[in-house]
Order: sequence, then structure tokens, then C-alpha cells
Amino acid sequence: MNIKDICTYGVTAQGRAELIKFYKSENLTRKEAILAKCYECNNGYVDGKMDCKVFSCPLYGYMPYNPNKDAVKKPMTDEQRKAASERMTRVRSAQTRK
Ligand code: SF4
Repeated sequence: MNIKDICTYGVTAQGRAELIKFYKSENLTRKEAILAKCYECNNGYVDGKMDCKVFSCPLYGYMPYNPNKDAVKKPMTDEQRKAASERMTRVRSAQTRK
């Protein structure tokens, strides 16, 4: 994603201005950097301003569209870790089949 992509495809959402600021080599605060990263990670929220639900991401507790910020500051349970591992295995096997 670059400035042109952001302006063409990226929706107006938290992190847009911050990501543009980053690409202009301006300094970001920690909060702005997190917002910019989540905006980039979600491809400019082209599919909607939604919770990414990546509980294993260290930034998830600060994700702007995470509806339950307090709950995610806890480490993953064994059950959640196992479910995440199974999801990754499915994704990886789907990628190798292509
Ligand atoms: S919290 Fe979600 S959107 Fe933000 S960087 Fe992590 S995975 Fe990407």
C-alpha cells in the first residue's frame, strides 16, 4: 500500500491520515503508528471498518475497531491458542495447494 493506493482505494477511517503522514516521512506518535499499521494491515479497510479478530497480534488490544479492548489484553487461553494454530494450518495448506 502506498499513498496513491490509500487515496484511490482506502476508505476514510482511523489510521488513514496517520499512514499518509508515515509515507511522507513525518514523525508519528506511538498511537498514530498503531493506527497506521492497522489501517495498512486491513488494506485501507476496503472491506469495511471491522475488527480484525487477530487475537494473537500484539497490537490487537489497540486495534481501533476492536470492540472489547480490555478483554484482549489477557494472554490467549490454551483453547484459543489451539484454535489459532488450527486456523494457521488450514491457511498454510490452502496456500500450498495453489
Ligand atoms: S491488530 Fe489486527 S489490524 Fe492491527 S496490526 Fe494486528 S492483525 Fe493487523
